[in-house]
Amino acid sequence: MTHLRTIEGFNRIGEENAFAVLARANQLADSGKSIINLGIGQPDFPTPEHIVEAAITALKAGHHGYTPATGIPELREAVATDVSSRYNTSVSANNVMIVPGGKVTMFSAILMFGEPGVDILYPDPGFPIYRSMIEFTGANPIPIPIRENNAFAFDASETLSLITDKTRLIIVNSPANPCGGVTPKEEIDALVKGLEAHPDVAILSDEIYDQMTYDNMQHVSLLEYPSIRDRLILLNGWSKTYAMTGWRLGYSIWPDTLFDPMRKLAVNAWSCVNAPAQYAALAALTGPQDAVTMMMQAFDERRLKVVDALNNLPGVSCITPKGAFYAFPNITQTGWQAKPLASQLLETTGVATIGGPDFGIHGEGYIRVSYANSLDNLMQAIERIDQFLRSKPS
Ligand code: PLP
Repeated sequence: MTHLRTIEGFNRIGEENAFAVLARANQLADSGKSIINLGIGQPDFPTPEHIVEAAITALKAGHHGYTPATGIPELREAVATDVSSRYNTSVSANNVMIVPGGKVTMFSAILMFGEPGVDILYPDPGFPIYRSMIEFTGANPIPIPIRENNAFAFDASETLSLITDKTRLIIVNSPANPCGGVTPKEEIDALVKGLEAHPDVAILSDEIYDQMTYDNMQHVSLLEYPSIRDRLILLNGWSKTYAMTGWRLGYSIWPDTLFDPMRKLAVNAWSCVNAPAQYAALAALTGPQDAVTMMMQAFDERRLKVVDALNNLPGVSCITPKGAFYAFPNITQTGWQAKPLASQLLETTGVATIGGPDFGIHGEGYIRVSYANSLDNLMQAIERIDQFLRSKPS
């Protein structure tokens, strides 16, 4: 199989360490160790019952075949209605593409714009697949630093200063993984204003945590800015909001010029999204939203307690995240490097977290703690980390 190496991109493609940590955590659990997993980024709640029922009903009603590559029309309509009603915007179902997971949108967008010699800007720390896919295409990955002293929001002027005549695509993510930052409206206004001077730069806005904000922090969608709509790709989906990570469901909104290339990619790669899952997605958008509210209340309570407890650990400080379900504590004063600390925490205390450098070079000095776990488990995990840090100072 040496010829695979001639496709150079496969020497550069990366992956997501959260999956490796999950595999190691499961292995340790199978060997009898008590494991608390704060590593993986998925809600610990089941998918709401009425959504599961809608999939079962769809299967029983005979929805077993291919659907249109773009998704079933009623679901595309429901996405357009949902997004248009939640944001100050109007979206047509003709621009909505149903895809198998949020990742598929970033994969496709980066594949469309990446090639050797061009720059793609992406948040760092950020979701690891951005950089992995940029490198796969041969484009230059240009990190947009995401800083603690800016509450882990992106900084519009710093972002704009990185644009050159080689820049093809810029990726932004708010609310953000792994830091939990939510970029305020003024900063997004400034970014869009600056982008108006770069009409050839496309934008991928990853808004998969759009309904997960706290402290009355308002999520502002890039869809609300008409001046960039002709080059904006919006990534969203059901994985986080409706606790549906395993269903593999997402949607994207594409400008007219990019919609057909995206449809053709779908036809070539996945044909369509699993039919009953699309009916479940329809029920999620059109049915009661109380399960989402309940989940967010639970996340909010945990967020405050976890941040408090993390701040009581020796050498650790943690700002209060405003979105998603991650805390990103600063561990520099413990004397540990982030990856060895995350690895030791898993091996010796059974607590799985992710080292900040797994999200980019600007992640050194931090670990990611997902609070998608029960309060009891979270408190027990932090207690174990406390004992570890007190007994093994770096
Ligand atoms: N974008 C961000 C920022 C994420 O954190 C994730 C998942 O963790 C995704 C996209 C991918 O979502 P999905 O599981 O729907 O592919």
